Amino acid sequence: DDDLALLDAGETGAAEDTPSGPDPVVAIVGRPNVGKSTLVNRILGRREAVVEDNPGVTRDRVSYKAEWNGRPFTVVDTGGWESSAKGMAQRVAGQAEIAAELADAVVLVVDALVGITASDEGIVRMLRRTKKPVILAANKVDDERGELDAAALWSLGLGEPHPVSGMHGRGVADLLDITLETLPAVSAVAGDYEIGGPRRVALLGRPNVGKSSMLNKLVGSARVIVDDVAGTTRDPVDELVQLGGRQWRFVDTAGIRRRAHQASGADFYAALRTQTALEKAEVAVVLIDASETLSEQDTRILSTVIEAGRALVIAYNKWDLMEDERRHYLEREIEKDLVQMTWAPRVNVSAKTGWHADKLVPAMDTALESWDRRISTGRFNAFLGELVAAHPHPLRGGKQPRILFGTQASNRPPKFVLFTTGFLDPGYRRFIVRRLREAFGFAGTPVELTMRIRE
Ligand code: GDP
Ligand code: GDP
Repeated sequence: DDDLALLDAGETGAAEDTPSGPDPVVAIVGRPNVGKSTLVNRILGRREAVVEDNPGVTRDRVSYKAEWNGRPFTVVDTGGWESSAKGMAQRVAGQAEIAAELADAVVLVVDALVGITASDEGIVRMLRRTKKPVILAANKVDDERGELDAAALWSLGLGEPHPVSGMHGRGVADLLDITLETLPAVSAVAGDYEIGGPRRVALLGRPNVGKSSMLNKLVGSARVIVDDVAGTTRDPVDELVQLGGRQWRFVDTAGIRRRAHQASGADFYAALRTQTALEKAEVAVVLIDASETLSEQDTRILSTVIEAGRALVIAYNKWDLMEDERRHYLEREIEKDLVQMTWAPRVNVSAKTGWHADKLVPAMDTALESWDRRISTGRFNAFLGELVAAHPHPLRGGKQPRILFGTQASNRPPKFVLFTTGFLDPGYRRFIVRRLREAFGFAGTPVELTMRIRE
């Protein structure tokens, strides 16, 4: 038994200047029972099986932080679903495809003892489409006698099969060396937000809407200025603010205070700041001047937040200036101009007096909770089944596209993928999203629904 201590990181590989950005991601895919989970445990340096029982957390794909020769990377295990499910072949390929698309490289695990099956071939065809680098692991080669079985996997057309034994560790070091060679230093696919630490908030809105006033109100006396981590500028960029008993990181607050720029080209700088702040933020609080008519710039900022896929809270500021007549018009404006964002929590505030500023925290909490949420594949498909039974897709030219199954591909924000036999009408897709929001909430987060058409 040549067990390996995979976590003992070598001194050689550690780079002096570590690149900043998300760690590269490698997805471990393959049909059930080929040994994916065993291999993942081996890579993570654990012997016991992963038992993670978070109700409501999808077990389709679980991500782990790993390290090899001093290089951090993320491993995505796709082993967590049952092999008894209906439409299995489809689901295997579907899950593998999503995992591959969200990864920088893929390790395809094949059971060398069993040899190539139709399911393996299906996965290979799909992986070709994704154009991601694929490393072929011929698993269950526990000793030299198995090498011949591994060689038979050349016929998959993925190049050299790498014989490994996830169970005993044999060949896993070589497999990791080869895998890390194909990985970029920084992930090209993973989101650029770090996980953990205070939640990151962007305070947005057009000039003079009250951003600085609101920031000052929220910060109060407990101000902590955080220096820019990347060191690209000497300006303090973010501020840590204590709200509701917790710390929040307000990003790019320097951009709010840098008013000199706004004298000329105000629109341009405002848009630029919106973009840079959103890149770093998880949730955006968009201030709107309640005393004035909703402007195009307001709706543009809101759309930018949604396109960036961030959680959203809308705060109507200057409520102290609100008059009854205006209140009436405001409701109509909201109905007319913000129909696409009725899911965003709304709070009425006054940065000047501080009125209702405490309502921002629960609104941000709601939005972030939705933004983070994962719906299990089981629950999502039960929902889809009921929805389609009650409201089938309208017939088009005697044909009716069917939904084979769906899954939540990612969160932050929630993204769902439907595997279908044909193109779903945009109206029907919007209907599904509406129902999805009714069934699961998602207040304060954009929800994305895409489809993959199967021939
Ligand atoms: P997954 O469904 O692909 O995640 O597969 P598992 O990791 O759950 O493994 C499926 C079965 O194969 C289990 O009974 C494992 O003990 C067994 N297995 C996994 N890796 C190896 C290996 O390297 N050699 C042998 N002989 N069996 C293995
Ligand atoms: P920014 O450009 O978005 O940072 O806006 P400021 O915070 O500089 O505010 C612009 C102007 O609106 C200032 O004169 C503020 O005093 C005023 N203001 C901001 N918030 C409120 C509010 O809630 N009520 C009233 N009446 N005035 C406000």
